[in-house]
Amino acid sequence: MRLEEIMSILENAKRIGRGVIRYGNVATYIPELAKADKNKLGICLYTIDGSRFETGNTDDRFTIQSISKVMALCLALDTFGSEIVFERVGVEPSGEAFNSLVELDNRSNRPFNPMINSGAITIASMLVSRYSIEDMQKYMQDVCEDPEIAMDEAVFQSEMETCARNKAIAYLLKSKNIIDSDVEDSVVFYTQMCAMSVTAKNLATFGLLLANDGIQISTGKRLITSQTVRLVLTIMLTCGMYDGSGEFALKTGIPTKSGVGGGLLSVAQNKMGIGIYGPSLDEKGNCIAGCELLGYISEALNLHIFNKAEWKEE
Ligand code: GLN
Repeated sequence: MRLEEIMSILENAKRIGRGVIRYGNVATYIPELAKADKNKLGICLYTIDGSRFETGNTDDRFTIQSISKVMALCLALDTFGSEIVFERVGVEPSGEAFNSLVELDNRSNRPFNPMINSGAITIASMLVSRYSIEDMQKYMQDVCEDPEIAMDEAVFQSEMETCARNKAIAYLLKSKNIIDSDVEDSVVFYTQMCAMSVTAKNLATFGLLLANDGIQISTGKRLITSQTVRLVLTIMLTCGMYDGSGEFALKTGIPTKSGVGGGLLSVAQNKMGIGIYGPSLDEKGNCIAGCELLGYISEALNLHIFNKAEWKEE
């Protein structure tokens, strides 16, 4: 496909996304996030061949929020191995909101998956036994190739003042002996990693790393093991959009993770990484413009994971 063609698809995508912004709202349950401008929209596509397509507010910084769950899972899997990680956290879609604790209390003795708060707080409790938040920050800087990634102190403080529910989840996990580390330390680590501020460009860079099997294209260095990438992308496809994961997977077929700061991280395997910023969210807490425009991009660029592919027997 010609580069101009892709650029015009991207411009159409922005128009399509802009068309639905008014139906969503910025997150308000973390007071600091309510200050975001809901009309912002930035989209970056970084391809495996080295092309970069960018439009809109791609340099704006926003807090990564739940997309940090993907980095945390990558680091945990590469540090502890999948057996130990999945002993504590399951891999099933929960069908509940991201901050739900009912299914944890009633239906299971393990968080359903690492993409919801209960699972990610469990992962954070494992990481905090081995790493400092500075180590986590450095990891994020490395996988996003941006040394400027830093914690947004105002968002961190704001969430710490309103995180009773996450603390409740963490204490419930402790009561079930899923968390070994100190509960408060685990919640702080989790909230700090959620408060790291990134750009759409950062998310596209990280997406490209995952699309390229964990090997950084600019240096040829492997940053994440191949096995971890496969596990993480599968979990993103089945659980990355919370209780909207099934519908989103049907529509786009692109493993994606959202955050309530307005970010979306999408990975079209062997093809491209996509980073989106748009703080107007749908009722499930996913970037409303991004969800809409990814459906269009997937169709236009043939990115659905289950699209018919050529297969030739030698
Ligand atoms: N820090 C946020 C929380 O725990 C992350 C949620 C999200 O992005 N969905 O509520």
